[in-house]
Parts: sequence; structure tokens; C-alpha cells
Amino acid sequence: MTNPDVQRLFLAIWPNEGARAALADVQKRFPSGTGRAVNSDNLHITLVFLGATHEEQRQCVEQVMARVNSPAFSFTLDQLGYWRKPQVLWAGSSVTSSPLQILAESVRDAAAQCGFRIEERPFQGHLTLFRKVRKPLRNAPAMMPIPWAVNSFTLVESITAESGVFYKVLRTWPLASGAADSTSG
Ligand code: ATP
Ligand code: MG
Repeated sequence: MTNPDVQRLFLAIWPNEGARAALADVQKRFPSGTGRAVNSDNLHITLVFLGATHEEQRQCVEQVMARVNSPAFSFTLDQLGYWRKPQVLWAGSSVTSSPLQILAESVRDAAAQCGFRIEERPFQGHLTLFRKVRKPLRNAPAMMPIPWAVNSFTLVESITAESGVFYKVLRTWPLASGAADSTSG
């Protein structure tokens, strides 16, 4: 039974069209049978998963997220990884200490103000490319570095339809531009 007053929500960064197309290309270079490819429209990096959210909580989230004051940044997806337990194959950045971390922490702190019980595990920014990958690939194709200029973050609803899960971007907040950004695109 679905309750119309409750939405399944998360906060994420959403790849621009260029990065999305490049990631779809990466997916295509994997052999068939590499688990279930994430639909390219669905590719994202989750900052904070909120889960079942009531209308009032969502309003709170929208208020606190508008006050997040993290800087815009660019980073590069240049690494593939595999996690055995959740059976996901992901793309990420080899640079660990990144502004992405700062953004994720800001968003997590903001969500906590609305009473969400936020995971205590450290944030591991990753973009899931394939699910249900039973074992690590022996010959994963090379990962061409994909630059990504992150200028905003989004509140997303996860909707389960007959055709599968899809994501609906509900709100987008710009990140503070300030420091000169030397990369283009
Ligand atoms: P499905 O669960 O139907 O396979 P999905 O995982 O893509 O699809 P959701 O479960 O709604 O869809 O998840 C939305 C996003 O939040 C995904 O990035 C997912 O990895 C992340 N997520 C889901 N559950 C959790 C959780 N308990 N903790 C952290 N992140 C989560
Ligand atoms: Mg899920």
C-alpha cells in the first residue's frame, strides 16, 4: 500500500548531460552479464538517503537545504570499484579528501535538523553503474576520467513503477560560486 503523504526521498548530485553520456559509454564497455546496468537517466551520487518522508518533514528539508552554504566544485570520476555485500559496481574519484565530502556533511547536518536518523558510516561518494553484480570483474574495462562540475544538489523522489524504479528531481539548490573554477564544462 502506498501512502500519498509519504515519499521516498534522498539528496543527490545529478550528473550533467556530458557526464551522463560518458558514464553510459563506460557501462556499454562492460561485458553483457555484468549484473543489471543502472538506467542512464538514473545515474547519480547519493549525498544522504532520507527514506520515507512525511509532508511536514519534506517542508523542513526544503527549508534547511536552502541554507546549505557549500561551494561549487569540480571533480573527476576516474575509478571503478566493487562492493561484494551490496553487489554494486560503481564509479568514483581516486581523490578522497574532496569538496564532495564537505557537501555531503553539510547536507547530512542539515537533514539531521529535521529529525532524520542519519547513517553514521563515513560518506563514500560513489555512482552505482551496475547492481546485482555477483563477483568482482577480472577484466574491467579502463575507466576514462570523466570531469564533473558540480554546481547544485537536488532533492529526489524514488518512485517504484511497474517498469522499475525511477527518480523524480523535486528541487535543486545552487552551490555557492566564489572560488574561481579553472575547469570548463
Ligand atoms: P531499488 O531499491 O528498487 O533497487 P534504488 O536502490 O535505485 O532501487 P532506492 O532504494 O530508492 O532506489 O535508493 C535511492 C538512492 O538511495 C540510491 O542511490 C540508493 O543507493 C540510496 N539508498 C537506498 N537505501 C539506502 C540506505 N539505507 N542507506 C543509504 N543509501 C541508500
Ligand atoms: Mg535500493
